[in-house]
Amino acid sequence: MADFMKLDAYNKKRDFKKTPEPTGKISHKHKNLFVIQKHAASHLHYDFRLELNGVLLSWAVPKGPCLDPTVKRLAMQVEDHPVNYGHFEGIIPQGEYGGGTVMLWDEGIWLSEDENPKAAYEKGHLRFELKAKKLNGKWSLIRLKDKKSWLLIKAKDNFAKPLKQYDITIAEPNSVLTGESIDEIAANYQHVWGKKGLVKKLKKHD
Ligand code: MN
Repeated sequence: MADFMKLDAYNKKRDFKKTPEPTGKISHKHKNLFVIQKHAASHLHYDFRLELNGVLLSWAVPKGPCLDPTVKRLAMQVEDHPVNYGHFEGIIPQGEYGGGTVMLWDEGIWLSEDENPKAAYEKGHLRFELKAKKLNGKWSLIRLKDKKSWLLIKAKDNFAKPLKQYDITIAEPNSVLTGESIDEIAANYQHVWGKKGLVKKLKKHD
């Protein structure tokens, strides 16, 4: 369990003199944060994050979330991220880990359907409700045998929609923070991070 609590893997991958991403610290606030960050790195993907025990459990979802309960989206688990990361939007310099543009694509909270979400996570089957700006209703994340791959699946409820009629990644492509597209974030914004999180936001051309 010690490893689960640590952000060593997160911190080791990054040079904080070069990247504006926040440094890794365990949070004690327990706000059930849920975010998705759309990340235009070498391959575009969606980073799906759920706050549990002071960190953001994190999965890279290559195709992004899907509201169709018949569609299972591959979600590759990556290192735990600091909770503070959930407010990050900006540019990771090329050549650094994850270099590219990060957009805050969705934010809200998640509510575990299991009484003990930590035990459910360790079992590899999380069932939860999302209450966010884009994603809502019931979802599950199910771990596969290789331990790193999970499946993100929408449950049947009033928020479910067939993929043929509605693809949320196409219908809602932009940031929930700024309304901007990936290209606009890349062109316009720089976020300045300090010890306490976001310090200020600069227009690049000011
Ligand atoms: Mn990523």
